Amino acid sequence: TMDYGTAPEGAGDALAWITDQGARFGHFIDGSFTKPGETFETTNPATGEVLAEITQGSESDVEKAVAAARKAQGPWEKLGGPGRARHLYAIARLLQKHSRLFAVLESLDNGKPIRESRDIDIPLAQRHFYHHAGCAQLMEDTMQGRVAHGVCGQVVPWNFPLLMLSWKIAPALAMGNTVVLKPAEWTSLTALLFADICRQAGLPKGVVNIVTGDGVTGAALVSAEVDKVAFTGSTEVGRKIREATAGSGKALTLELGGKSPYIVFDDADLDSAVEGLVDAIWFNGGQVCCAGSRLLVQESIAERFHQKLRARMDKLRVGDPLDKSIDVGAIVHPEQLSRIRALVDGAEGDVYRADAPVPEGCFYPPTLISDLAPASPLMQEEIFGPVLVSTTFRTPTEAVELANNTRYGLAASVWSENINVALDIAPQLVSGVVWINGTNMFDAAAPFGGMRESGFGREGGPEGLMAYTKPAGSAKALKRIKPFEGDAVEPQ
Ligand code: NAD
Repeated sequence: TMDYGTAPEGAGDALAWITDQGARFGHFIDGSFTKPGETFETTNPATGEVLAEITQGSESDVEKAVAAARKAQGPWEKLGGPGRARHLYAIARLLQKHSRLFAVLESLDNGKPIRESRDIDIPLAQRHFYHHAGCAQLMEDTMQGRVAHGVCGQVVPWNFPLLMLSWKIAPALAMGNTVVLKPAEWTSLTALLFADICRQAGLPKGVVNIVTGDGVTGAALVSAEVDKVAFTGSTEVGRKIREATAGSGKALTLELGGKSPYIVFDDADLDSAVEGLVDAIWFNGGQVCCAGSRLLVQESIAERFHQKLRARMDKLRVGDPLDKSIDVGAIVHPEQLSRIRALVDGAEGDVYRADAPVPEGCFYPPTLISDLAPASPLMQEEIFGPVLVSTTFRTPTEAVELANNTRYGLAASVWSENINVALDIAPQLVSGVVWINGTNMFDAAAPFGGMRESGFGREGGPEGLMAYTKPAGSAKALKRIKPFEGDAVEPQ
């Protein structure tokens, strides 16, 4: 058993679940947990304590998982939409029943404030399963002529571990696919608890498989005999995956990074815009792909807005993720903390750090860097931490130019009390989503995804479902034709 020292208050059940499992985890393949192999440690970033040991997945582990998913896929698809819906509802209900356990485990492993995991991550994850259960139930009427891809290899990042898993697994299963998912190496625990939930829900074995490990395991999964690859993570790794899957006939969706603009016009409700900005950049410590990390504020109000913003920053509470009153928790991992430091240290411009106590260890203060030139690296690069950069504009045209001056295109916020200005600006922004007088609005029924180097494909909504199907005709044709030598597309 593990010795967790003085357990953080409220962590008891989650730590008990880890110890019940022996605090050493294997993979979840073909309906059961494998014996742990070569392992690495997963830690609580807020305390540095080791939480558990996680198995580094080998190529052969990946192959076994893919074979289990392959065997399960035909019967799973044949079960039909309503049959699969029953399983998805059962998973959703168990997620709901164990929501507290999931929330605490997520905050322990990732460092995010419990308020967020409890009120946002876990409820949205449930919502994805309920929504897609409904889609599966009704799909027979609406998805005529389309069939599942088959086996999906899915790789997710560490910033929303269970939520990103749900975005991937729920639609895939709804449409009749089976999956092998690899969680991020820093945050595997809620994926393993989810595997336990699938077992409890009586999900047929092989339908969901979880293989843990780092990027090497991820690369093995991408290259394995899967029919579709779905990836959320950095643009750099997304590019590698695109290369690795090129010419293979595998379907691919990529959800990548961002440097999303947050545009404030002089007629905006400034107090609301400040509150929105707190959510845009300090939610999950800024470790959010669509974080409003680039403030563009109209010159005439810039000083007043920055003043209000700095005053609000000083009131943010940074500390123990399990404390319900905390606004900004720990940074996910010391390595990520060093990345943030390296980007900010030596920054040009005016650096303001919130005048609030920050605990020792893996924490970083809310930071605002203003007066940056548009071409400055900090205006262009994703920091993925609690750091906001800002610059000013004079006219709406200039606002649009600055907003689009990035290689990304994931999200944007526009703040103005003049709806004509907002509606004029919104369609000119190169962005997967534009929020007007708001930010971070998500729902399972609304598609989410990027443009440019923020990736392609959508998750959620009807588009997200379509991404887990292909036209039935081509599947039948592939079955009929004899492949020619060296054909990359395997008939199924
Ligand atoms: P990352 O790309 O380093 O890792 C993501 C996942 O990919 C991890 O599971 C990792 O083990 C795996 N991986 C690493 N190398 C791989 C390879 N060669 N082949 C296959 N898998 C590999 O990203 P990260 O640092 O974990 O996450 C942060 C990034 O994710 C940010 O850039 C953020 O913007 C992005 N993100 C995007 C979205 C979105 O929906 N667009 C959502 C969340 C995060």
